[in-house]
Amino acid sequence: MSKRRRLYEGKAKILYTGPEPGTLIQHFKDDATAFNAEKHATIEGKGVLNNRISEYIFIRLGEIGVATHFIKTLNMREQLIHEVDIIPLEVVVRNVAAGSLVKRLGHPGRLGLKEGETLPRPLVEFYYKDDALGDPLIGEDHIAVFGWASQPELDDIIANALRINDFMTGLFYGVGIRLVDFKLEFGRRWEDETSRIMLADEISPDNCRLWDVENHEKLDKDRFRQDLGGLVDAYQEVARRLGIFTDAKADGKSGPVLVK
Ligand code: 5GP
Repeated sequence: MSKRRRLYEGKAKILYTGPEPGTLIQHFKDDATAFNAEKHATIEGKGVLNNRISEYIFIRLGEIGVATHFIKTLNMREQLIHEVDIIPLEVVVRNVAAGSLVKRLGHPGRLGLKEGETLPRPLVEFYYKDDALGDPLIGEDHIAVFGWASQPELDDIIANALRINDFMTGLFYGVGIRLVDFKLEFGRRWEDETSRIMLADEISPDNCRLWDVENHEKLDKDRFRQDLGGLVDAYQEVARRLGIFTDAKADGKSGPVLVK
């Protein structure tokens, strides 16, 4: 019998109480949603892949000194994480014009921004995390006025987001993938009277746009959003290129398995 208690169920993940105070278990589901949950599907294997891809990236980020909530992987779908107070912001970093940026500012607007155009420098945007409002785009002053984060916390978040972007751009470029954009979430971890900003949530093809450098194929959740099909194959390809997969047998008949 499991003693853990379900604390929160989101669209793609469930959070349970952890074995020690200050810890939680993050469970990756196979569910996919888009367009403020108007579109929904269960895609077998997605949760396992996101768990392993996110684990891989969080470990690499930890190795370069980025504070993250990740403690360890527990099984194919679950990670042990530090409990944090989630800051109600979606922090999006963009290197290339795509998605809502193109909808907002692209053709036929005066800027004429086209999908696939490299931006002059990485763009950091903030969205207020509220499903009922459809996660609206906000400015830094909204964050200050409504007290969602202090100025030092916001400075820390921006510095971390840009550092993560630099690191991940290189990581993916090295395996033939263009990191177009991605979404991060941060939390506050309290230790006695002081708090520290930590990267939380996940980094996976669910919240990144990843395009093959050569053929521009989409290897991310846009396969679901845009009804392109082949989502699991695309996520598997990302995992394979990052070295998370290996072939089980030399004959290759048993297909790829996750490297422990
Ligand atoms: P856009 O604003 O263009 O729709 O998304 C920008 C980037 O952030 C994309 O990589 C997208 O996957 C990610 N993103 C933005 N909002 C969400 C969200 O609510 N859930 C997920 N999984 N990713 C998001």
